[in-house]
Amino acid sequence: MNNNAKLFVISAPSGCGKGTILAEVFKNRDVYYSVSCTTRKPREGEIDGVHYHFIKNDQFEKMAQNNEFLEYAGYADHYYGTPLETVKGNLEQGRDVVLEIETKGAFQVKKAMPEAVLMFILPPSIKEIDRRLHKRGTEEESVIQKRLSEAVGEIKQADKYDYVIMNDELEKAVEDFNIVFNSAKAEDDKADKFKSDREETKKLIGEVLENA
Ligand code: 5GP
Repeated sequence: MNNNAKLFVISAPSGCGKGTILAEVFKNRDVYYSVSCTTRKPREGEIDGVHYHFIKNDQFEKMAQNNEFLEYAGYADHYYGTPLETVKGNLEQGRDVVLEIETKGAFQVKKAMPEAVLMFILPPSIKEIDRRLHKRGTEEESVIQKRLSEAVGEIKQADKYDYVIMNDELEKAVEDFNIVFNSAKAEDDKADKFKSDREETKKLIGEVLENA
């Protein structure tokens, strides 16, 4: 059995363009991309069991009580959680696992599994997220405002992640993401410039938050 399997936890504020980056990065990799449970309603085009397991509040609460989640959190008035069994099963079989979750959940995972690799994708600015959320047009204004406020709170915590990359330009973001992923797998120092404890990273986070 390959016991080198790693758990990658990726966070990026809503409207940050992470879907496009992640689709590109993971299209040729054999990873298990965890499907979360959520109590929010599906958006147009989202498929139950593929994008999320869309479940009711009482079902979610029952699963939480039964410790069926690796982590779970509230976000913009809904619950989101990572089913524990499938994550555990895949790691045990030697397959890397990717969770794409928000910050509260990411810190729960790090606490439970300190060897997990936490990666944060920064948007170029809060204004850009605002623009993308409005352009996407899938949420009402009040929900957009909640998501923007969640985004600011999340970006403030980016420096607690292991690695931080910027999604300013898609091609560059994909390249940087691949460097971090490969380096974390190989456990070498090739991604050190993306480490969150560096002054450059802190400066970058500060710049993104400006005008928030
Ligand atoms: P959305 O509603 O836009 O799909 O997701 C909202 C936020 O919830 C995103 O930041 C997304 O990464 C996060 N999220 C998705 N699944 C999970 C999960 O299982 N646990 C946690 N904690 N957050 C999640």
